[in-house]
Amino acid sequence: MKDYYEILGVKRDASADEIKSAYRRLAKKYHPDLNKAPDAADKFKEVNEAYEVLGNDKKRANYDQYGTADGPQFGGNGAGFGDFFGGGASAGGFGGFSDIFSDIFSAFGGGATGRGRVNLRGDDINISMKLSFDEAAFGVEKIISLSRMETCSACKGTGAKNGKEFSTCPDCNGMGRVRIQQNTMFGTTIRESVCPRCGGAGKIIKEKCAECNGKGNKKVPAEIRVKVPAGIDDGQTIRLRGEGNAPAGQGTNGDLNIKVSVAEHPIFKRVGQELMFDLYVPFTTCLLGGKVEIPLPRGTTIIEIKEGTLSGTVLRLRGKGIKVLNRESYGDLLITVKSEPPKAFTRKSKELIRDLHEEFDASDFPKYKEFLTKMKGLK
Ligand SMILES: [Zn+2]
Ligand SMILES: [Zn+2]
Repeated sequence: MKDYYEILGVKRDASADEIKSAYRRLAKKYHPDLNKAPDAADKFKEVNEAYEVLGNDKKRANYDQYGTADGPQFGGNGAGFGDFFGGGASAGGFGGFSDIFSDIFSAFGGGATGRGRVNLRGDDINISMKLSFDEAAFGVEKIISLSRMETCSACKGTGAKNGKEFSTCPDCNGMGRVRIQQNTMFGTTIRESVCPRCGGAGKIIKEKCAECNGKGNKKVPAEIRVKVPAGIDDGQTIRLRGEGNAPAGQGTNGDLNIKVSVAEHPIFKRVGQELMFDLYVPFTTCLLGGKVEIPLPRGTTIIEIKEGTLSGTVLRLRGKGIKVLNRESYGDLLITVKSEPPKAFTRKSKELIRDLHEEFDASDFPKYKEFLTKMKGLK
């Protein structure tokens, strides 16, 4: 895995502007048109690759948390996402692996301690979780209730009663391997292979564990505490290693993958760690100036619209956006001021506006004047 921060020569908490200027400098330095060194093209490519990730808030957050721009990948076991609502709903989504493992395992006769054992890994559990805008912005701790396969404690995952009711495999006499005679057109060959009955363990279960019916694991309800980090975004996944299903037999647990969906805010539109919204104000506020109370992620604040503000002006409140994952850094809040004309004009208001209009001429509006001059030049 390449370290994109190292490639761009910036610190891990570098601001978006710092990353951008580092990128510009390096892209110029290594641009194949400008730099004829043999490795310039490769460096140029590398710098671009790094900026493609670090220059994008969402990809950068994924990269910081999961080491890849795409966030964690799911295993292709076909297990769907169970829907998970807030606190207590149970989650489904068990894939087929546990069953396949338990079949193999019963064939092995609980031979987790024997030769030829397979290193088992339990199935991942994939669920989705809904978060409010605030929970995603500030982080939250949740308890998830689900049922998952856990190693049977009665037999310690061996599937045999008390974990010790085994007998020697009669097919291989405990050797774990058998000879198979094959008749081919070249004559008879004898091949040695893993004993199919005990799977190489050399022993089979004499008496099944009653708790798990010889499988070594069983489905039990579980409550799992999940720390949702502040700044997580819609579509990102929290991976809890080892919190998935236990395999049938001894081995490692699968993971619990929680895909997050974040509810929309009534006013803010969230893009990565930045928040934005259109602030419509009466056109007279844009002309005369005024103060408007606006929301922040937490609480409110009062901003000043300056006298003579052009509709479409963007006001940037630095650091008033969403926290960047795992970093003490915040996005910005961008407010686009929109001048709203009245829904209808009264006779009086029309007169006033006409009077107002007559107070000015084109020289009072330099940009408009410039436009008129250019138009003249075109004729
Ligand atoms: Zn058991
Ligand atoms: Zn055997």
